[in-house]
Amino acid sequence: MTTDPRPVALISGGSRGIGRAAVLRLAQDGHDVAFCYHANQEAAEILAKEAETLGARVTYDRVDVADPDAVRDWVTRTENGLGPVETAVTSAGITRDKALVTMSDDDWRSVLTTNLDGVFHVCRTVAFSMMKRRQGSIVNISSVAGVYGNATQTNYAASKAGIIGFSKSLAKEIGRYGIRVNVVAPGFVDTDMVAAVPERLRTRALGGVALGRMGTAEEVADLVSFLAGPRAAYMTGSVVQIDGGMTL
Ligand code: NAP
Repeated sequence: MTTDPRPVALISGGSRGIGRAAVLRLAQDGHDVAFCYHANQEAAEILAKEAETLGARVTYDRVDVADPDAVRDWVTRTENGLGPVETAVTSAGITRDKALVTMSDDDWRSVLTTNLDGVFHVCRTVAFSMMKRRQGSIVNISSVAGVYGNATQTNYAASKAGIIGFSKSLAKEIGRYGIRVNVVAPGFVDTDMVAAVPERLRTRALGGVALGRMGTAEEVADLVSFLAGPRAAYMTGSVVQIDGGMTL
């Protein structure tokens, strides 16, 4: 007896944090998963084993999303190995927080190239393949900082606001091919990225969260799963905040 192949989900920055939770959630939903990481191979290996226990075929690659050729090769390898990408989630991201007047060219460039160019590189490649098949769903991870701004994050907020404009434009461009593009804008989520924020600033930021706690990566992954899947069939170009009431 042959079984239908599982749909393929591709997740950038899938080895840790929100991306990691999305890998596991999409595997649970019945996808095969391909994810990339940048430096931490051990985290990727551990995650791949865990996702395999959920019945998924799993591939993982070291890819710098800022490098267009590397992203193109990664997507091609994935499609040759697992099959066409049906769902893409862009979670790869970094911060280099500084007051503007002390921000170096490299602080600016590295955040913009990883966070915004990275989304461009992944979406450009998967969109081409999705358009040929006239189906697919993309979820890009932005941030409330991209909607409201945040002091010491001009670089990060610019990249995350860029993702929103990019995604809305792409949604308009490829909606007629049956492809949906949505954005998740998290507030404060308990991952390594936030652990790097000085405790005094974390405590101050938490004071403004109505629910009085950070979100979990799994809670964000549930939203990613919803937006990626058929229950959100009539949603495209949406920016969905998940912030525990931080921006009320
Ligand atoms: P995280 O725990 O620091 O994980 C970041 C992930 O991105 C890791 O898997 C990392 O791989 C990968 N990555 C970093 N640079 C990369 C590159 N150049 N190429 C490929 N992969 C790269 O971060 P997170 O908190 O989960 O954040 C995930 C996304 O959510 C980011 O886009 C972030 O801006 C956004 N976000 C997070 C929060 C929050 O509170 N945590 C809030 C709003 C938005 P390695 O480990 O191998 O480096």
